[in-house]
Amino acid sequence: MKPQRVLVVEDEPSILDSVLYALHTEGFEPIGHGTCRDAIAWMRQESADLVILDVGLPDGSGMELCKTIRAASNVPVIFLTARASEVDRIVGLEIGADDYVVKPFSPRELTARVKAVLRRFGEGSRVSAKPTVASGLAFDEESCQASFHGSALGLSATEWKLLRALAGHPGRVFSREQLMNLAWDDPGAAMERTVDAHIKSLRHKMRAIRPDVDLIQTHRGFGYSCSA
Ligand code: CA
Repeated sequence: MKPQRVLVVEDEPSILDSVLYALHTEGFEPIGHGTCRDAIAWMRQESADLVILDVGLPDGSGMELCKTIRAASNVPVIFLTARASEVDRIVGLEIGADDYVVKPFSPRELTARVKAVLRRFGEGSRVSAKPTVASGLAFDEESCQASFHGSALGLSATEWKLLRALAGHPGRVFSREQLMNLAWDDPGAAMERTVDAHIKSLRHKMRAIRPDVDLIQTHRGFGYSCSA
């Protein structure tokens, strides 16, 4: 099987080297670049199965670079960020990253994330990043409704956005704040406990269809995730 290609855009040589080395060790074909310009030039000629982007690059932001890449490709993107405060923007609807790793990180942790993201997208394929199905869930983008094991859930707009965010990233834990930013038009006006109330309602609707399944997990003191 052809090794999967991972483009890594990181300007700090020591980090870039260790990431490239770890990916190579795990059987990937890593390609490293240190600037947005070089990465864009490479992407014009070649394609990757996954892209790892540092947020702070010498000639621009990794977030802008992500938008440029996404305009032409659905390739999964993992961000490297030095600040936890950037996470909401990175995973939010604006950038829509598939995952992120906060510096400092171990190369092993990053390669584990790379594998998890690629597994989610189907090995070797370059399919759309759009979340559609997770464990009996199906989303209809036009009507903003979802069904669970074939039965309509009858979701409110907020529940729809919450469930879509959670199911779009199976296994990832979202904080209440992240979920508010994803699902509320005016997150500042919401209270974190309103997230709990909507999650409770979502669970109730899903249990009415399948009492034996609980897709949404509570992570005490942090937030929620949805299993795949
Ligand atoms: Ca940097």
